[in-house]
Amino acid sequence: MALSTLASQRLSGKSAVRAPVSRKRVVVTRAAIELPPPPYALDALEPHMSKKTFEFHWGKHHRAYVDNLNKQIAGTPLENKTLEEIVTETWNNGKPTPAFNNAAQIWNHTFFWESMGPNKGGKPTGAVAAAIDRDFGSYAEFVTQFKTAGATQFGSGWAWLVTDKAGKLSITKTPNAENPVVHGQTPILTVDVWEHAYYIDMQNRRPDYLTCFVDNLIDWDAVAARYAAATA
Ligand code: FE
Repeated sequence: MALSTLASQRLSGKSAVRAPVSRKRVVVTRAAIELPPPPYALDALEPHMSKKTFEFHWGKHHRAYVDNLNKQIAGTPLENKTLEEIVTETWNNGKPTPAFNNAAQIWNHTFFWESMGPNKGGKPTGAVAAAIDRDFGSYAEFVTQFKTAGATQFGSGWAWLVTDKAGKLSITKTPNAENPVVHGQTPILTVDVWEHAYYIDMQNRRPDYLTCFVDNLIDWDAVAARYAAATA
């Protein structure tokens, strides 16, 4: 299965489940939103992101968003929607309804895990590298702007590299659970700057966490696949 197809299924959060066939009719129901397994072992990002951080971040925080969302949508019309549909609908044109925070955080975290990989980081190559040079001037300038976005997001939130349909890149940051998708942008890279993402490993040193993320963790192959899909 193609990576992009698999990633898209993971981000959809659920799959259709066919209930047992009765003689009279076939009922198709949907599973609850699921917690996707991480795309690598919990210790695979060490020493740059510890197993302990990952156990808490994926196993406790990400799981809690999933459990809480399923409680919130049970018995409501949202129960039969995909995760993306729930994110978009609960954003409610900038007046988010209660399920938005959990739904968007589920989407954001799955996207974040898939923005990283073991033995990654450093400079990109290919079309993304060319677009970075064109739109930021240089890789070094991209790094400066991306890290600044993450470091200056007051409180909890996310920093993103996004593209428009024409392939023009820009950097943005969002508070709490908000993401670029609700603003009609297509994210191709994100870093979680909630304190729970780095406090165990780096305490309050968010800038050091961002440097470590850029130097050692960004999966540019995943970013390139997203960029190709977004501009196809
Ligand atoms: Fe997080």
